[in-house]
Amino acid sequence: MKVGVLALQGDFAEHLAILRRLGAEGVEVRLPSHLDDIEALIIPGGESTTIGKLAYAFDLLDPLRVFGQMRPIWGTCAGAIFLSRDTLEGQHLLGLMDITVERNAFGRQADSFESEIPVPVLENPETPFPAIFIRAPLIASVGPEVDILARLLNNDDSGIIVAAKQGHFLATSFHPELTGDDRFHRYFLSLMKRDL
Ligand code: GLN
Repeated sequence: MKVGVLALQGDFAEHLAILRRLGAEGVEVRLPSHLDDIEALIIPGGESTTIGKLAYAFDLLDPLRVFGQMRPIWGTCAGAIFLSRDTLEGQHLLGLMDITVERNAFGRQADSFESEIPVPVLENPETPFPAIFIRAPLIASVGPEVDILARLLNNDDSGIIVAAKQGHFLATSFHPELTGDDRFHRYFLSLMKRDL
């Protein structure tokens, strides 16, 4: 399986390392032609405004949107922002997933934290997932075709949406690529197999 990782900015190397460990072929994507022979794409964490500006500069926005019509895309943190429909901040977005996000919703870099969250769709669902939040967004609203995969419990116990799926699109506001737990990557590869 050939999986592209958008390598404009951010922690793409960590995603590539996990893909390699799982026996998939990871490919760095920087130009539209790099999308031609990959079967799915991961957009890493980093800075979504920078990723958007570089994608615009390299004429990648429309090719990425076309790619997403046919193939799975997973965005982690900044990547989830870039996949979303709206952030209310006027930046380049793919607008592929019917979610709106609130950027930097948990505070600054120094307020980064890790939380064990239940994610029922993963293997061994009884084992919570170690979710690392770094200047993370929250998913503020989801459209009717979006499944909520995970919530972070907040003070009033209503739960903040931090992972969602819509067809072959996946968004996580945290960074599975920074943990030793590869269940989210396995889950994404399983979406990919289903799509082939
Ligand atoms: N705060 C960043 C943004 O708004 C996301 C941070 C991250 O990817 N860890 O794009």
